[in-house]
Amino acid sequence: MSTTVTKTLQATFAPPTAHKQAKLNDLLETYRDSLQEAFDSGASTMSSVSDIVTPYNLPYQAKAALCNYVPKLRKTYNAQELDDEHPIRLTNQAAKFDHSEERDYEFTWWVPRPGRGTNFWIPLRINPEQEDLWHDLVSEDAKAGEIRLQQHRKNWVLHVTVEYPVEELTMDGDAAHIGLDIGETALITGCALKDGSPTDPFVCSGSRAKHLRKEMHTTLKRLQERDASEWRIEDRFSHYQNALTDIVEKASREAVEYAKQFENPVLVMEDLTYIRERLDYGKHMNRRLHSWAFARLQGRIEDKATEAGIPVEYVNPAYTSQTCHSCHRIGRRDSQAEFRCPNDDCHVSMFQADINASANIARRIDPWGESVPLDKAERDDSLRDGSGCDTATTSSETASPSRGHERRSASLERHREKSVPAQMTLTAFRESKPSASDD
Ligand SMILES: [Zn+2]
Repeated sequence: MSTTVTKTLQATFAPPTAHKQAKLNDLLETYRDSLQEAFDSGASTMSSVSDIVTPYNLPYQAKAALCNYVPKLRKTYNAQELDDEHPIRLTNQAAKFDHSEERDYEFTWWVPRPGRGTNFWIPLRINPEQEDLWHDLVSEDAKAGEIRLQQHRKNWVLHVTVEYPVEELTMDGDAAHIGLDIGETALITGCALKDGSPTDPFVCSGSRAKHLRKEMHTTLKRLQERDASEWRIEDRFSHYQNALTDIVEKASREAVEYAKQFENPVLVMEDLTYIRERLDYGKHMNRRLHSWAFARLQGRIEDKATEAGIPVEYVNPAYTSQTCHSCHRIGRRDSQAEFRCPNDDCHVSMFQADINASANIARRIDPWGESVPLDKAERDDSLRDGSGCDTATTSSETASPSRGHERRSASLERHREKSVPAQMTLTAFRESKPSASDD
């Protein structure tokens, strides 16, 4: 069984020659003129838009896209006026790409123009992470959807939606559950459970990300204090964002590679919505939530796992860092690095805290393996920060395996809606106090 996934590929143009630049500007202006006229006319059907845009000197792929798009502007998006920055939209008939290893920029796009023999090739700078999908697009293993071309300062940015098949995800009885704990000191700690024991843990250091984040805050703050020009601030900001994006891409790739070495892997991560909705987790967890990496990393891990056919599940994160993975008693996380088990009969006395947490996350996917201690008094004693307030909910949720499964599916959807935000924006940075996302 296979299912389809849609994704947007992004590329920027290699700097075009002056001649090509003029043609692109012309295309953009003509497109925006026709869009404006069609919108102002109030045309609300494909044929009435077609009457207006037909005389324009535009490629047919742009006219067809306008016929689709303009009626939606008022009906679906309830637009009152047009944004000046509208990208050129083209139907997938404009999805003609070529690849050759001989070229500096291996991928090129056949830019559609009105009239015969006027199209031209433009070299693309692709995101290396998406290279496989570009190959699939050229070989037509992936199906192109709408294309958007946007001018961004001096750059031209191309977006191509692609659809491609992936294996249907199935939950297997013999699955290897791999818990991923996301944090700051270690960006990702992965741990597979074999017969309940942590096996071959994987750690991806967070020191470079932490360093970059601090440097970014210092630099931007200094530039703002000095009243540096807008473009200078934006330039620095995107420099840091790109560097952080590279780290997220690399870390998520490594986590999925780690999972692939096991048979029938299932990745298990913490469902953030639980924390946001109900529980106060105290300083440690709050810091993790503020961390820029958390949601983006989860989102990218999920994307890459889905592409690799590895199922991803989300579990209630309550006490994952305070529970002993072996005897399941609540213990203490004395320092960032160490977990202490209070149970004298348990073979675990002290354990690397992140590995203990990821083992707990992995264990939690199996409802029968879950055993948050039922002795409420004991738990309340050991949690000094008030986070034990929601004990009834926690234990009832783990009582029934079938309910547990439904709950996970529902929470997965919520997770998708809420916690896969786009890259941090400069506005968001300005609105946040540097101390909120820093240490
Ligand atoms: Zn223990």
